[in-house]
Amino acid sequence: MLKRTVQNIGGVYPRTCSVCGFKGYFSAFGNPPRWDALCVKCGSLERHRQFKLFLDSHPEVIGDTLVHFAPEPAMAELLRRTGCNYRSADLFQPADLKLNLENLDLPDESVDTFILFHILEHVDDKAALSELRRCLKPGGHAVIMIPIVEGWQTTYENPEVTTPRERLLHFGQVDHIRYYGRDFRERVLAAGFALDEYTCDGEQTVRFSLSPGRTVFVATKPQ
Ligand SMILES: [Zn+2]
Repeated sequence: MLKRTVQNIGGVYPRTCSVCGFKGYFSAFGNPPRWDALCVKCGSLERHRQFKLFLDSHPEVIGDTLVHFAPEPAMAELLRRTGCNYRSADLFQPADLKLNLENLDLPDESVDTFILFHILEHVDDKAALSELRRCLKPGGHAVIMIPIVEGWQTTYENPEVTTPRERLLHFGQVDHIRYYGRDFRERVLAAGFALDEYTCDGEQTVRFSLSPGRTVFVATKPQ
């Protein structure tokens, strides 16, 4: 039978947390709620658990010098534990570095790894990708997650949509300025990167309670 307590309301099936190792009932999270989304032990969400699985299988993407944009605590903790020279970055919130992604106050070829989860849909991504490439060392990586509609060939942008209310309607969040389509990949390649992508399979999606089909993109600056 379903087990329900104050701590795991909306925990429907026993799951495993790839971040902290917890096995048991998770909790719902979000509005509207996503069942089994939140690990009741460490607070990880679907994307954190997917990122941990990605990190475990691709530790080479974490270089000596790492900059993490708009850091979520669970992700920051994971990255600090890798032993890299970790710096958080944000334009509006307290962070190690105050950085505008469209105009980075960082030297050329000074960073091994950038982490950007759910950032590019907020900004001028052409400027941002150009700046990321400039500041990465040759062979360095930008690890990117974005909302993407794989059924769309073309990214949906609309310059007439400018208010928070309209953006919520058109792009799903009050401060998003596009919904990416499959041509996200072309944007990354046009900025001078090589691109790899990683998803989790069905068995992992069920066991770790992930969002099906989400992609971790790794843009690499050529040597
Ligand atoms: Zn956990």
